[in-house]
Amino acid sequence: MREVDVAVIGAGPAGLFAAYYAGFRGLSVSVIDALPEPGGQVTAMYPEKLILDVAGFPAIKGRELVTNLVAQAAPFHPDYRLGVRAEKLSYLDGRPVLGLAGGEQLSCGAVLITGGLGSFTPRPLPVAESFTGGGIVYFVPQPTELTDRHVLIVGGGDSAFDWAATLAPLARSVTLVHRRDRFRAHAGTIERVRALPVRIVVNAEVSRLYGEETVTGAELTVRGGEVETLPVDTVVAALGFTADLGPLAEWGLNLDRRHIVVDSAMATNLPRVFAAGDITEYPGKVRLIATGFGEAATAVNNAAVVIDPTAHLFPGHSSDGT
Ligand SMILES: Cc1cc2nc3c(=O)[nH]c(=O)nc-3n(C[C@H](O)[C@H](O)[C@H](O)COP(=O)(O)OP(=O)(O)OC[C@H]3O[C@@H](n4cnc5c(N)ncnc54)[C@H](O)[C@@H]3O)c2cc1C
Repeated sequence: MREVDVAVIGAGPAGLFAAYYAGFRGLSVSVIDALPEPGGQVTAMYPEKLILDVAGFPAIKGRELVTNLVAQAAPFHPDYRLGVRAEKLSYLDGRPVLGLAGGEQLSCGAVLITGGLGSFTPRPLPVAESFTGGGIVYFVPQPTELTDRHVLIVGGGDSAFDWAATLAPLARSVTLVHRRDRFRAHAGTIERVRALPVRIVVNAEVSRLYGEETVTGAELTVRGGEVETLPVDTVVAALGFTADLGPLAEWGLNLDRRHIVVDSAMATNLPRVFAAGDITEYPGKVRLIATGFGEAATAVNNAAVVIDPTAHLFPGHSSDGT
């Protein structure tokens, strides 16, 4: 069984900062996330939006914040397990043992749950269920990979419009199709996209995908029966995500509705299990990236003392070593 000092469940902002912090404290760290990309809600829901309330950054795009967090932790070589859900928690000789989807087990000095809203699952694109080829994505980690491609974006929320704004200058064509004529996206983003070379088709659904190994075209059916076929190299399905606590709800954690109750050390009711970020609950809790960062630092420093009782709670200043 693989051993690690700290297993962080969730690669959102809190989990990524915890990975840096564990490394800074000289602890080995694994970061597990059910999603295929790091960044949690930021990557899944608003990678192109400007965030204005992260200390030290007057304005930073979600995607850049995540890139910076990954870069900040990189010198400590976190072991990322992306696209893998943490399923089970048990104990062996007093150490938590984390069971991952696929059957792998990690013996941990401590577990830090930074699971945010819980595990996210992209809402599937119905027409894609019967399509066996590739070319259908739920995230666009590297927008430049879609340079000169015909892109079809499905959805009417913030993510759909964010992807449209990002891809319009790169792609050969961008078509955004939405099954209603009202959008859920931020009004300013909608106006920005309307000014770009993006074709917006409303009251329409993708009724068929063409292609064998990968998608080459799509059929759109507009309400009323009108059908059109267009060339497509990539479909970006931006239909949102479902989130639930999933397996964490069965671990015996003290829960307050969908949140984990922690004390001022970010400790849960289970031995050697800490939590930080949106998933925690305590009197006065505020769910923001800024507060999640602080909680992650508190949780890792307290975990460090549990792992090695001779360690100091205060980590020293990072600037001391520079
Ligand atoms: C549209 C929008 C705009 C926002 N704007 C701002 C803003 O301007 N400023 C601000 O401060 N906050 C903002 N927020 C809130 C902010 O995004 C959250 O506070 C922040 O993402 C919480 O970070 P986190 O690391 O706690 O959790 P999350 O970002 O939710 O990440 C949790 C991760 O844990 C993973 N996970 C959960 N359970 C498991 C499991 N069992 N196994 C494996 N992985 C698991 C999930 O897949 C997810 O990736 C916004 C939120 C939204 C939706």
